[in-house]
Amino acid sequence: MKAGVIIKVAGPLVVADKMQDARMFDVVRVGEKGLIGEIIEIHGERAFIQVYEDTRGIGPGEPVESTGLPLSVELGPGLIESIYDGIQRPLDIIYERAGDYITRGITLPPINRGKKWTFKPHKKLGDLVEGGDIIGSVRETVVVEHRIMVPISIKGIIKEIREGEFTVEEIICRVETPDGMRDISMLQRWPVRIPRPYKKKLPPDEPLMTGQRVIDTFFPVAKGGTACVPGPFGSGKTVIQHQLAKWADAEIIVYVGCGERGNEMTDVLIELPRLKDPKTGETLMRRTVLIANTSNMPVAAREASVYTGITLAEYFRDMGYSVALQADSTSRWAEAMREISGRLEEMPGEEGYPAYLGTRIAEFYERSGKVICMGSDNRVGALTTIGSVSPPGGDLSDPVVQTTLRVVKVFWSLEDRLAFQRHFPAISWLDSYSLYHDNLEEHIRRYVVEAFPEQRKEAMRLLQQEAELAEIVRLVGIDALSISDRLILETARSIREDFLHQNAFHEIDTYTSSEKNYFLLSLILKLHHLCEKMVEKEIPFKRIQGLRVREEISRAKYVPEDQLEQLKHIEEHLTSEAEEVMRQEGELHA
Ligand code: ADP
Repeated sequence: MKAGVIIKVAGPLVVADKMQDARMFDVVRVGEKGLIGEIIEIHGERAFIQVYEDTRGIGPGEPVESTGLPLSVELGPGLIESIYDGIQRPLDIIYERAGDYITRGITLPPINRGKKWTFKPHKKLGDLVEGGDIIGSVRETVVVEHRIMVPISIKGIIKEIREGEFTVEEIICRVETPDGMRDISMLQRWPVRIPRPYKKKLPPDEPLMTGQRVIDTFFPVAKGGTACVPGPFGSGKTVIQHQLAKWADAEIIVYVGCGERGNEMTDVLIELPRLKDPKTGETLMRRTVLIANTSNMPVAAREASVYTGITLAEYFRDMGYSVALQADSTSRWAEAMREISGRLEEMPGEEGYPAYLGTRIAEFYERSGKVICMGSDNRVGALTTIGSVSPPGGDLSDPVVQTTLRVVKVFWSLEDRLAFQRHFPAISWLDSYSLYHDNLEEHIRRYVVEAFPEQRKEAMRLLQQEAELAEIVRLVGIDALSISDRLILETARSIREDFLHQNAFHEIDTYTSSEKNYFLLSLILKLHHLCEKMVEKEIPFKRIQGLRVREEISRAKYVPEDQLEQLKHIEEHLTSEAEEVMRQEGELHA
């Protein structure tokens, strides 16, 4: 292909002339250094290119060469445990070769070409296969079986299938199709801007358990659902995303970090390999792909990273896995769009963001879902997307927050007031919502706890009553409240402090199973019901407030998962102490 010529460089935007063969979204190599860029607009022979590397030192007259291919990712064994940048360059390997700073124009295959994998066929000679069918598998890590699928465009009869050790480029299977013989290796490519196909979308009806009590109880997200965490700086967005990466019961995690601070990614990089999955005992990296935008990379790379991330996530979904994609923070992506749009001199929309901001965000989240995957076995996969948004000043009227809220179904609203009081996670129980409660109810009743929905509603009612009563207290003082109202305040305080408050950095408190979660809340509510009885019997409020078991309940969340029988003891103490008080008070009055 003939090379074009640079006529203008404006930050990450390069304009090139004589690009007659160029097509939209083709990847190009820019300048003598061969920087990687993508064509985002064409006028006649003039192409506008978004460059994913620093354009310093690049100038007019230098060549631009189109690769003729759209921005794509490589898919195959070797993805898990990798750390990539926004255009899927393996950061760990680049680091080994080039040190801290990525040499510009560097290209390395995202997937190791030399490594041999043990391929086990699941299909045999003569089988009819179609796009999406699993022909075999590779044990990629101790916890992940990498399923090798027939590329979407192939359908035919298997004429050869091999077993043994292969690199990702070697042929493992040959299929006779109406258009001739097609070779299949374990390596495939997919253009990042095109969603991978599936057969059918299903309603998301299973919860993605996160081990975070406020989320699992009040604002659950479904497997295949979408959630958004907006919040001001320092309110705990990143900690929540990390907690989900560590504890969410997804089989695969794809974590896209476009942090404001470089060290945020470092936390993930250091912590994940150390942390053990409670279920498998393996390190959490064994199910994770990380995409990191290092701070020395230009903003445009953030644009690419969310697409790279979601395409990798879709690929694992297609294998029939439950995948969670986390993007922290999507504001950085939106800012990249704004910068490029500004340089293209497009008509700005709200706050300078391009008019297509809403469409792009919606298209991104719409790639999640619980689906019947391609292939003939009707397996089900799910892709859950959780994006954080960091609006300037924490202002929720920010266009990125507003457009995101229009498409996602769960909203975890972080409040700086709570963060300031060190109530973490600072998820507001009054403003947040989940639109999945109805979808999930049947599953939760059947597989978690039958009474969970009622319990959740009762606890939420108490918190809402607390908010109303707090207003009265503020106006006329606590003495104006009846004893039963004061009991509501007492129980709501206990729900907040003993249940919702969860320390991400405490060895035990960091994760709560659904069984323990239910038990903790039921202790608080059971005590509330007994106290209501005491109020009816006109037992002095001081005694109700001073029950010793309150102390035990406040420590119940630190009971280890393998000693949950301790919670049963607290429950027994609760009943016996309440009965004792009622007996004593009864005797006093007799
Ligand atoms: P953001 O990403 O919103 O700027 P961070 O996630 O970095 O905020 O959180 C800021 C700080 O708040 C953390 O460094 C930590 O000290 C505290 N924090 C947030 N969430 C928790 C939590 N669940 N448990 C304990 N501390 C937390």
